[in-house]
Amino acid sequence: MLLPVRAGLAPSAVFRGLNALVREALLASCSGRTIDESTLPYGLWNAAQANLATDACFQALAVAIRALDDEGRLQLYLGVRTASSVRQLFTDPIAATQEIPEAVNVELRNLTTHLFKSSSTLAGITQACGETVMDHYNRYSAIHPPGNGNVCGICATEYLAQRRGRIAANEQWRAPYDHLLAKEKYPQFGIDPDNLMPICNTCNSKAKLAKDLLHNLAGQRRMCFDPWTENFQGQVNLNIDLQDISPGVTWSMSPQPLTNQSKLATWDEVYRIKERIEGEFSSVEVKLAEDLDCTDLAAFKHSLTAKAHARKQFERRTPFNYWRHLLYRSLLRMADTDLEQLRTLCHATLDPNGDAETTYGI
Ligand SMILES: [Zn+2]
Repeated sequence: MLLPVRAGLAPSAVFRGLNALVREALLASCSGRTIDESTLPYGLWNAAQANLATDACFQALAVAIRALDDEGRLQLYLGVRTASSVRQLFTDPIAATQEIPEAVNVELRNLTTHLFKSSSTLAGITQACGETVMDHYNRYSAIHPPGNGNVCGICATEYLAQRRGRIAANEQWRAPYDHLLAKEKYPQFGIDPDNLMPICNTCNSKAKLAKDLLHNLAGQRRMCFDPWTENFQGQVNLNIDLQDISPGVTWSMSPQPLTNQSKLATWDEVYRIKERIEGEFSSVEVKLAEDLDCTDLAAFKHSLTAKAHARKQFERRTPFNYWRHLLYRSLLRMADTDLEQLRTLCHATLDPNGDAETTYGI
């Protein structure tokens, strides 16, 4: 994550409860026994059975497992008991996903997709688990710790969802929960709370699409950050290149440790971060002029210092604040002659009447 997930943020009780139920259903069917409710939220199994569509999905999974031979059921049972967690798969390139017979995989995919789309909002399910999905989302996106704020933690370029005034918390718009590992390819993680994270619409629907965090486009296994515990602040740098006709922002990565190189590359390739940041600052002199005092060099440097601090402080409040702070910090390391050249370019974008960007016709 670019904006680290804050400690103490409990996962979604609904996703956690349903995920535990799926795992227990797999183990029970493999063993030929009934569901053991002692490890599940009280009333959850009854609530799931009370919904005909949900019950049908669980029964279809049980039928598919009963159709396996004894060895197949044993191997499936052992696989469920010992499978790598989704978070192990993120960070350990040796960790392998569980092999699941295709007939079972089909029903598992149907079940977890149904639970995610439909059952997670059922009154009986949420009552048994103790909160709704929206309750979790509101906890997740809260600005005060342990909430993570309303800016997408993957890219820091977009709100998770716009807030509307005078609208109750449970009626607000919310961001999509991204299946970090796609539910079609990894149905065993289709309702796993560690695999479900609110991210912005651009990350989810424009950048990532069907890309696989565990494999590159050539199908080779790769590493990625564990978004729940790892973050990559301080490992990307922005600089301004004044050699070109118009100044441009250049991006560089400085992995710490070096093994993070592949994790950074995965993050950039999947979510297209570099091109999104370079696009935002493609007319960087305008972006600077709208935010900084371009009167003279002293005022320019003073505003850079103040804004770098403020933008960092409010990185979870407003999109691009993290990236602005990163850019301003790098500008403060420039020689005065270069900074003055940049300030002059910024100042030239300002109209004498006070309207910016007139020369750009924006
Ligand atoms: Zn995003």
